[in-house]
Amino acid sequence: MTAAEVADQFWDRGLETLPRRELDALQLERLRRQLARCYDGSPFYREKFDRAGAAPQHLERLSDIARFPFVTKGELRDEQAAHPPCGRYALAPQAAWRELHPSSGTTGHPVNTVWSAADIEVITDHTARTLWSFGTRPADVVQNAFSYGLWVAGMAVHYAAARIGAFCIPAGTAPAPRQIEMMTRLRSSVLLATPSFGLYIGERLRETGRPPELALRAGCFGGEAGAELPSTRARLERVLGIDAYDYYGLAEIAPTFASECTEKAGLHWAEDHYLIEIVDPVTGLPLPPGELGVLIITHLTRDATPMIRYWTNDYARVDPSPCRCGRTHARSPGGIVGRHDDLIVYRGAKFYPAQIEQTVRGFPELSDEFRLELDTDGATGLERCTVFVEATGQPPPGLAERVRDALRDVLLVGPAVEIVPAGSLERTAFKAKRVLDRRRGLAVGPPAQPPRDAS
Ligand SMILES: [Zn+2]
Repeated sequence: MTAAEVADQFWDRGLETLPRRELDALQLERLRRQLARCYDGSPFYREKFDRAGAAPQHLERLSDIARFPFVTKGELRDEQAAHPPCGRYALAPQAAWRELHPSSGTTGHPVNTVWSAADIEVITDHTARTLWSFGTRPADVVQNAFSYGLWVAGMAVHYAAARIGAFCIPAGTAPAPRQIEMMTRLRSSVLLATPSFGLYIGERLRETGRPPELALRAGCFGGEAGAELPSTRARLERVLGIDAYDYYGLAEIAPTFASECTEKAGLHWAEDHYLIEIVDPVTGLPLPPGELGVLIITHLTRDATPMIRYWTNDYARVDPSPCRCGRTHARSPGGIVGRHDDLIVYRGAKFYPAQIEQTVRGFPELSDEFRLELDTDGATGLERCTVFVEATGQPPPGLAERVRDALRDVLLVGPAVEIVPAGSLERTAFKAKRVLDRRRGLAVGPPAQPPRDAS
């Protein structure tokens, strides 16, 4: 890599600053090719498109994608059960398959996603682009604390760090003391982890004292939403002494295909490979820019297991205006706001765990951890909601009441607040489980199947 290339703020200047009109034209050309390929090569998609009365030749402009049906995770699971191992939407021949990336399987059987050699190339390149956008350069030591085993982000960052020419430490989910030892001895400058794990490493650093040799400069956090919550970002930056950025990916689509740039102005989408839509959760109709809705993603270039209008269950808003950094690819300011599955309905109020997280992490007397427990009072049949928080030292009088009042302002219902000693809530190197819902027979959130497209 030349000195001029290293000095450039863009990994691929031409592509990342492509004028909107040209980006739209590129998307349209790639979408047409992908739809035709799915219709011709996949009985799964042909049946779906025929049922919806949508044909690839109907696509004249990008907005015509709204005529095509959504794909849900449940549907993929059923398809793979009927046609193992990967369903009839696996378009690349098996000889071209290179890697299996099953979903984590927290809500039923995992869905198998396959990467071909061509897919690995695309994913490596756009992951290098995201790493570069928040400042990773060849001279960096990249500590990759994303899991490598059956989790999609570890391999992608590993390949991309090598592509940039950085030195990669494949730390995976080694325990926090080992992570700290490696980052100190090898002078890691960039850290990749879930926000929970990043905070845990930071907590350990606070307990043991920050080694003077520590060279961490930046961190990008994915696998859970949170790095864009102002209070969580501020904590990550303070305890680790870094600039913290948000990362996003999901197994069925791709890892690490959206990250923040150094402007910290929201997730930038790699729009040359992914078509991003935001739709109304009830009607399924497209929403205008800036409105909050369900994130729908279409693979424009995926070879092996392409998704057309995948219903992610994640809520976000999209801003298509160019960023201060000069990139033209659309952003989601605030990142992923909540998951469809995570929506909590309690005594008529609706809220997300992220709102509790934001409130709890605004209290300097509390640690980063919390638990939310919902249950039903056996005697009265009333629902109960308790938030457990950890005091970092001796809790001052009235702390629980102040936390409860702050939560009531945000959630519009008042949960009970219990303060527990520091370190009593479980820490994790993977994705944290902070909500325990023991209420009986309660349906949470909107129906599992999204509505059919109304056009
Ligand atoms: Zn930007």
